[in-house]
Amino acid sequence: MAPDWDRLRQKMVEEQLIGRGILDHRVTQAMRSVARHLFVPDSQRKRSYEDRALPIGFDQTISQPFIVGLTLQALELSGPEHVLEVGTGSGYQAALLGHLCHRVVSVENILELAFQAKSRLADLGFDNVAVQPGDGTEGWPKEAPFDAIIVAAASPEIPPPLVEQLKPSGKLVIPLGGRNDQVLTLLQKSGSELISKSLGECRFVPLRGAHGWPQQ
Ligand code: SAH
Repeated sequence: MAPDWDRLRQKMVEEQLIGRGILDHRVTQAMRSVARHLFVPDSQRKRSYEDRALPIGFDQTISQPFIVGLTLQALELSGPEHVLEVGTGSGYQAALLGHLCHRVVSVENILELAFQAKSRLADLGFDNVAVQPGDGTEGWPKEAPFDAIIVAAASPEIPPPLVEQLKPSGKLVIPLGGRNDQVLTLLQKSGSELISKSLGECRFVPLRGAHGWPQQ
Protein backbone atom coordinates (compact mmCIF):
# COMPACT_ATOMS: atom_id res chain seq x y z
CA MET A 1 0.00 0.00 0.00
CA ALA A 2 1.29 3.50 -0.82
CA PRO A 3 2.20 5.62 2.21
CA ASP A 4 -0.28 8.30 3.23
CA TRP A 5 1.87 11.14 1.87
CA ASP A 6 -0.58 13.83 2.91
CA ARG A 7 -0.61 12.69 6.53
CA LEU A 8 3.21 12.39 6.59
CA ARG A 9 3.50 15.92 5.17
CA GLN A 10 1.15 17.47 7.76
CA LYS A 11 3.13 15.68 10.50
CA MET A 12 6.40 17.04 9.02
CA VAL A 13 5.00 20.59 9.18
CA GLU A 14 3.73 20.21 12.73
CA GLU A 15 6.76 18.49 14.26
CA GLN A 16 9.74 19.70 12.24
CA LEU A 17 8.57 23.24 11.47
CA ILE A 18 5.91 24.59 13.85
CA GLY A 19 7.42 22.57 16.72
CA ARG A 20 10.74 24.34 16.15
CA GLY A 21 9.48 27.88 15.74
CA ILE A 22 8.71 28.17 12.02
CA LEU A 23 5.41 29.94 12.60
CA ASP A 24 5.00 32.11 9.48
CA HIS A 25 1.59 31.00 8.29
CA ARG A 26 2.27 31.53 4.59
CA VAL A 27 5.41 29.38 4.83
CA THR A 28 3.74 26.56 6.76
CA GLN A 29 0.75 26.61 4.37
CA ALA A 30 3.05 26.35 1.36
CA MET A 31 4.93 23.46 2.99
CA ARG A 32 1.62 21.74 3.80
CA SER A 33 0.64 21.90 0.17
CA VAL A 34 3.78 21.18 -1.92
CA ALA A 35 4.20 17.40 -2.34
CA ARG A 36 7.87 16.99 -1.40
CA HIS A 37 7.80 13.28 -2.38
CA LEU A 38 7.34 14.30 -6.03
CA PHE A 39 10.74 16.07 -5.92
CA VAL A 40 12.65 13.12 -4.44
CA PRO A 41 14.11 10.27 -6.56
CA ASP A 42 12.26 6.92 -6.45
CA SER A 43 15.07 5.29 -4.47
CA GLN A 44 14.64 7.83 -1.62
CA ARG A 45 10.91 8.40 -1.84
CA LYS A 46 9.87 6.65 1.35
CA ARG A 47 12.15 9.04 3.27
CA SER A 48 10.62 12.17 1.68
CA TYR A 49 9.14 13.58 4.90
CA GLU A 50 12.02 12.67 7.22
CA ASP A 51 13.94 15.31 9.15
CA ARG A 52 16.96 15.32 6.83
CA ALA A 53 18.46 16.27 3.49
CA LEU A 54 18.25 13.53 0.83
CA PRO A 55 20.44 12.69 -2.18
CA ILE A 56 19.05 13.70 -5.58
CA GLY A 57 21.92 12.42 -7.75
CA PHE A 58 25.01 14.20 -9.12
CA ASP A 59 26.35 14.44 -5.52
CA GLN A 60 23.64 17.00 -4.70
CA THR A 61 20.85 17.05 -2.11
CA ILE A 62 17.34 18.34 -1.49
CA SER A 63 17.67 20.36 1.74
CA GLN A 64 16.22 19.36 5.12
CA PRO A 65 12.62 20.67 5.46
CA PHE A 66 13.49 22.69 8.60
CA ILE A 67 16.31 24.54 6.82
CA VAL A 68 14.00 25.29 3.87
CA GLY A 69 11.34 26.64 6.26
CA LEU A 70 13.89 28.71 8.19
CA THR A 71 15.23 30.24 4.96
CA LEU A 72 11.80 31.06 3.56
CA GLN A 73 10.58 32.52 6.84
CA ALA A 74 13.62 34.83 7.03
CA LEU A 75 12.67 36.44 3.70
CA GLU A 76 9.24 37.59 5.02
CA LEU A 77 7.66 37.37 1.57
CA SER A 78 4.15 38.79 1.28
CA GLY A 79 3.23 37.94 -2.34
CA PRO A 80 4.27 40.56 -4.91
CA GLU A 81 8.01 39.84 -4.84
CA HIS A 82 10.38 38.84 -7.62
CA VAL A 83 12.85 36.30 -6.24
CA LEU A 84 16.06 34.66 -7.48
CA GLU A 85 17.12 31.22 -6.27
CA VAL A 86 20.66 29.97 -6.92
CA GLY A 87 20.76 26.14 -6.90
CA THR A 88 17.47 24.71 -8.19
CA GLY A 89 18.43 21.11 -7.35
CA SER A 90 15.16 19.15 -7.30
CA GLY A 91 13.02 22.28 -7.71
CA TYR A 92 11.32 21.79 -4.31
CA GLN A 93 12.28 25.13 -2.78
CA ALA A 94 11.55 26.86 -6.11
CA ALA A 95 8.02 25.39 -5.99
CA LEU A 96 7.54 26.75 -2.46
CA LEU A 97 8.75 30.15 -3.64
CA GLY A 98 6.21 29.85 -6.47
CA HIS A 99 3.50 29.78 -3.76
CA LEU A 100 5.00 32.62 -1.75
CA CYS A 101 5.82 35.28 -4.34
CA HIS A 102 4.89 36.62 -7.77
CA ARG A 103 7.78 35.37 -9.90
CA VAL A 104 10.77 33.09 -9.31
CA VAL A 105 13.90 32.66 -11.40
CA SER A 106 15.94 29.66 -10.30
CA VAL A 107 19.40 29.00 -11.73
CA GLU A 108 21.06 25.55 -11.69
CA ASN A 109 24.51 24.77 -13.07
CA ILE A 110 24.09 20.99 -13.51
CA LEU A 111 22.23 20.81 -16.81
CA GLU A 112 20.55 17.48 -16.13
CA LEU A 113 19.14 18.70 -12.80
CA ALA A 114 18.00 21.96 -14.40
CA PHE A 115 16.09 20.11 -17.14
CA GLN A 116 14.55 17.62 -14.70
CA ALA A 117 13.40 20.40 -12.35
CA LYS A 118 12.08 22.48 -15.23
CA SER A 119 9.88 19.67 -16.56
CA ARG A 120 8.74 18.64 -13.06
CA LEU A 121 7.68 22.19 -12.21
CA ALA A 122 5.91 22.57 -15.56
CA ASP A 123 4.05 19.25 -15.05
CA LEU A 124 2.94 20.43 -11.61
CA GLY A 125 1.66 23.72 -13.05
CA PHE A 126 4.16 26.16 -11.47
CA ASP A 127 4.00 28.64 -14.33
CA ASN A 128 5.47 31.54 -12.32
CA VAL A 129 8.77 29.64 -11.81
CA ALA A 130 11.45 29.83 -14.51
CA VAL A 131 14.41 27.41 -14.27
CA GLN A 132 17.56 28.54 -16.07
CA PRO A 133 20.68 26.47 -16.63
CA GLY A 134 23.80 28.48 -15.78
CA ASP A 135 26.23 29.71 -13.15
CA GLY A 136 24.08 31.35 -10.50
CA THR A 137 27.07 33.03 -8.84
CA GLU A 138 26.66 35.55 -11.69
CA GLY A 139 23.02 36.05 -10.66
CA TRP A 140 20.53 36.49 -13.48
CA PRO A 141 21.18 40.00 -14.80
CA LYS A 142 18.42 39.87 -17.42
CA GLU A 143 15.75 39.94 -14.73
CA ALA A 144 17.52 41.92 -12.01
CA PRO A 145 16.94 43.58 -9.59
CA PHE A 146 15.32 41.13 -7.16
CA ASP A 147 13.43 41.70 -3.93
CA ALA A 148 15.07 38.62 -2.44
CA ILE A 149 17.75 36.07 -3.32
CA ILE A 150 18.24 32.57 -1.86
CA VAL A 151 21.50 30.73 -2.36
CA ALA A 152 21.03 27.00 -1.70
CA ALA A 153 24.73 26.04 -1.76
CA ALA A 154 27.59 27.11 0.52
CA SER A 155 30.29 29.62 -0.30
CA PRO A 156 33.15 31.21 1.65
CA GLU A 157 32.07 34.62 0.35
CA ILE A 158 29.02 36.40 -0.94
CA PRO A 159 29.18 36.51 -4.76
CA PRO A 160 29.34 40.26 -5.59
CA PRO A 161 26.91 40.04 -8.55
CA LEU A 162 24.19 38.87 -6.16
CA VAL A 163 24.59 41.95 -3.98
CA GLU A 164 24.47 44.15 -7.09
CA GLN A 165 21.28 42.45 -8.27
CA LEU A 166 19.47 42.91 -4.95
CA LYS A 167 17.04 45.84 -4.63
CA PRO A 168 17.58 48.48 -1.93
CA SER A 169 16.32 46.87 1.34
CA GLY A 170 16.33 43.49 -0.43
CA LYS A 171 17.15 40.30 1.51
CA LEU A 172 19.66 37.59 0.71
CA VAL A 173 19.97 34.24 2.49
CA ILE A 174 23.19 32.29 1.93
CA PRO A 175 25.11 29.57 3.79
CA LEU A 176 28.55 31.12 4.38
CA GLY A 177 31.68 29.14 5.25
CA GLY A 178 33.76 26.13 4.30
CA ARG A 179 32.74 22.49 3.98
CA ASN A 180 32.12 21.80 7.67
CA ASP A 181 31.63 25.16 9.34
CA GLN A 182 28.75 26.94 7.68
CA VAL A 183 26.37 29.54 9.02
CA LEU A 184 23.07 30.21 7.32
CA THR A 185 23.19 33.98 7.02
CA LEU A 186 20.50 36.58 6.36
CA LEU A 187 21.78 39.79 4.78
CA GLN A 188 19.74 42.91 4.18
CA LYS A 189 20.79 45.78 1.96
CA SER A 190 20.74 49.15 3.69
CA GLY A 191 22.23 51.95 1.58
CA SER A 192 25.74 50.81 0.68
CA GLU A 193 25.88 48.42 3.65
CA LEU A 194 24.82 44.86 4.27
CA ILE A 195 23.32 44.07 7.65
CA SER A 196 24.05 40.49 8.61
CA LYS A 197 22.23 38.12 10.96
CA SER A 198 23.00 34.48 11.73
CA LEU A 199 20.12 32.02 11.34
CA GLY A 200 22.20 29.15 12.73
CA GLU A 201 24.61 26.44 11.70
CA CYS A 202 23.94 24.42 8.59
CA ARG A 203 25.48 22.03 6.09
CA PHE A 204 25.02 22.62 2.36
CA VAL A 205 26.78 21.30 -0.76
CA PRO A 206 29.40 23.68 -2.21
CA LEU A 207 28.49 26.60 -4.46
CA ARG A 208 30.66 26.14 -7.55
CA GLY A 209 31.30 28.79 -10.17
CA ALA A 210 33.00 32.03 -11.09
CA HIS A 211 32.31 33.54 -7.62
CA GLY A 212 32.27 30.31 -5.58
CA TRP A 213 34.41 27.16 -5.28
CA PRO A 214 36.16 26.04 -8.47
CA GLN A 215 34.24 23.67 -10.78
CA GLN A 216 35.21 20.02 -10.14
N1 SAH B 1 17.04 24.15 -3.51
C1 SAH B 1 17.30 22.76 -3.86
C2 SAH B 1 18.48 22.17 -3.16
C3 SAH B 1 19.71 22.65 -3.75
S1 SAH B 1 21.18 21.73 -3.50
C4 SAH B 1 16.08 21.89 -3.67
O1 SAH B 1 15.07 22.39 -3.17
O2 SAH B 1 16.15 20.73 -4.06
C5 SAH B 1 22.25 22.92 -4.21
C6 SAH B 1 22.19 23.01 -5.70
O3 SAH B 1 23.03 24.10 -6.07
C7 SAH B 1 22.74 21.79 -6.43
O4 SAH B 1 21.79 21.30 -7.31
C8 SAH B 1 23.97 22.34 -7.16
O5 SAH B 1 24.18 21.73 -8.41
C9 SAH B 1 23.60 23.79 -7.31
N2 SAH B 1 24.71 24.72 -7.56
C10 SAH B 1 25.98 24.72 -7.05
N3 SAH B 1 26.68 25.75 -7.55
C11 SAH B 1 25.83 26.43 -8.39
C12 SAH B 1 25.96 27.60 -9.21
N4 SAH B 1 27.08 28.29 -9.28
N5 SAH B 1 24.88 28.00 -9.92
C13 SAH B 1 23.72 27.32 -9.87
N6 SAH B 1 23.54 26.22 -9.12
C14 SAH B 1 24.58 25.78 -8.39
